[in-house]
Amino acid sequence: IDAGLGVRLDIVRELVVPTIHLHAPRQETRTKGNAEQFLAKLNEMRIEITVVFGGFEGESYADIPTTPRSVGHVPPETRAARTQEMKEIADFARLLGVDVVALHLGFVPHDASDPLYRDVLAVTRDVCDHCKGQKQALHLETGQESADSLLQFIAHVERDNLFINFDPANMILYAMGDPVAALRLLAARIVQIHIKDAVASRAAGRWGKEVAVGTGDVDWRAFFEALRHARLSCDLMIEREASGDPVDEIRQTVARVEPLLDV
Ligand code: MG
Repeated sequence: IDAGLGVRLDIVRELVVPTIHLHAPRQETRTKGNAEQFLAKLNEMRIEITVVFGGFEGESYADIPTTPRSVGHVPPETRAARTQEMKEIADFARLLGVDVVALHLGFVPHDASDPLYRDVLAVTRDVCDHCKGQKQALHLETGQESADSLLQFIAHVERDNLFINFDPANMILYAMGDPVAALRLLAARIVQIHIKDAVASRAAGRWGKEVAVGTGDVDWRAFFEALRHARLSCDLMIEREASGDPVDEIRQTVARVEPLLDV
C-alpha cells in the first residue's frame, strides 16, 4: 500500500507465490478505502494475506544493544502509543479480512519478577484481548529471546489466541540458540514460519549476517524433518531483508526448499 511490500505485486504474481505477509502501512494510509482497493487487487491476483505485521516509528536494529531500547512494546516511553497503534493495525488487518497480526514484541526480560516483564505481559494481554474481540490471533516473531524464555512468557500471558511466527534465522542473528532445537521446543505454538537463513556473528553485540537460504547456518534438512516430526502444517513464508536481487533469491529459495518438503 505504501512501504507494505518489499517487492511489487506483479512480481509476487510472476513468482506464483500464493500467500504473503504484509508489513502494516503507515497510519495515514490505513483507511477503509485503501483496504478495499488493495483487497480487490489481491483477489484479482488470487493472492492471500495470511498475516499483517506491525512495526513502529523509531524502531532500530542498528546493533544488538540498540534493539532492546527501541523495538516493540518493551521500551516504556513508547509502550502506550505503540499498544494503541498495534490495535489499530489489527483493525486494519480486519478490514483486509486477515485474522492474524504479528510483531516483534522486543527484548522481554528473562526474569519474570522484573517489573518490566509484568508491564510487557499486561500490554500483550491487552493486544490479545483486542484481537480476540474481532476473532484474530496475535503472533510473536522469534529470535529476541531463547525458546525457553518465549515459552515461559506465552504461558504467563494466558491467552488462547497467542502463537508464534518462527524465524530460524533470527535465532542465529540474535545468538538465541539452535533453531532446530527451538523449533522442536516451540512446535505446539508455531503457526507461521519465515524461511530465512543467516550466519552467526563471532563478535559479541554484533549481528550475524542474513544470507540467501541454503548458504547459512540453518540445517534445512533437519529443520524440515523436525517440522514433519511435529506434524506442523504451516505457511512457509520466504523472507529476504538484505539488499541484492530478492526476486531471484526467492526463486532460488523455492527451488531449494521444495525438494526438502518431500524428504
Ligand atoms: Mg522474520
